[in-house]
Order: sequence, then structure tokens, then C-alpha cells
Amino acid sequence: MNILLLGPQGSGKGTQAKRISAEFGIPHIATGDMLRVAMEAETPLGLRVKPIYEAGRLVPDEIMIELIRERLEEPDAADGFVLDGFPRTTPQADALDAMLREIGRELTVVFALQVSDEICIERLLKRAREEGRPDDTPEGIRTRLELYHRETEPLVEHYRAQGHLVTIHADGTPNEVFAEIQAALEQVAVR
Ligand code: AMP
Repeated sequence: MNILLLGPQGSGKGTQAKRISAEFGIPHIATGDMLRVAMEAETPLGLRVKPIYEAGRLVPDEIMIELIRERLEEPDAADGFVLDGFPRTTPQADALDAMLREIGRELTVVFALQVSDEICIERLLKRAREEGRPDDTPEGIRTRLELYHRETEPLVEHYRAQGHLVTIHADGTPNEVFAEIQAALEQVAVR
């Protein structure tokens, strides 16, 4: 089961990805988490991306593509994965298509989590109070939502054209959203 989640910051992507990962025993691959680990450990990658990350901007495609290429080669991803936070741009999506083609795999389903900007902003401000992520400032939140609409939202059509897209109403509670995802996964399994 190769699952991809698309959605703006605050759509609950991370929460849902963790639940899918636990339910199906496949790794949750979250590029934002990978960058946070690298920054914490002050690796060369971490030091390079820190100012970009903190400004809420996008890390260059080449860096992200290489990071994902290496991660997908790890043995735990051999039976499936749930990808969260990648791809975020058309070049990243094209690179992922090529990578999967090379290893003879394809995406099982792409979930597009749909939710209004207002709800995203509300959730992200709450997360800022609770977790203190350095990019969850009002300025950072605005930048990331703008970037999502401009760079990442077009990928919804990219995956719709491939026939892998399922849209999910993501404005409900985490349990409601997960129920919709589970129902869709049952449909995919039947197909
Ligand atoms: P996230 O935890 O997914 O919200 O990601 C946090 C930050 O990490 C983003 O605002 C970007 O600065 C960076 N980032 C994560 N994934 C990507 C990606 N696929 N492409 C570019 N930048 C990324």
C-alpha cells in the first residue's frame, strides 16, 4: 500500500498519516519531521535548511528529492509507505513518478485533504501555543498557506489525471476524517 497525503498545513495530514501508518504497519515518511531531526542533530543538511525552514519557505527540490530517494530505498519502505509533506512542487511530483517507475511500484491512492484556510489558520495557531514550532508564527503560517496554494495545490490535478486521487473532507474531528479515509481504503482494496 503506497499512500500519499496532500493537504495544506493544518489539514491534519500528519495526524492522519500516523493513524494510517499504525493501522497498516507501514512507515510514516514525513519530510518535515526528517528535516526537524536533521536540524536538531545539526547535520550539514540540518544547518543548510534551518533558515529556509524557519522562514516557512520551501527547501530546494534537489535536496528534497535526494532525501526521499534515500528514504524510499530503506528496507522498511519495501512493503509500502505513507508519504506526508512530499511532493510539494511539480518537479518533486515528477521526480517521485520517475523513482516509483524505476522500482516498478505505483501509488495506491492519493488523498487530498480539503479544508478552508480559516480552519487551517485556527489549528496552526493552536499548535503554535501548544508545541511552539518555530515556523508556526502568523507570518510563517501565511507564507506556508500561500506556498501551498501556489506550488502544491496544482498536484491535486496531477494525481487526478493519473486516476489515483480521492478527496477527503478534512474539516471534521480526527476520528471523522480517519473514518472517511478508512472507507476509501476499503474501496481501493476491493478494486
Ligand atoms: P511540514 O512539517 O510538512 O509542515 O514541513 C515543514 C517545513 O519543512 C516546510 O515549511 C518546508 O520549509 C520544509 N519542507 C518539508 N517538506 C518539504 C518539501 N517536500 N519541499 C520543500 N520543503 C519542504
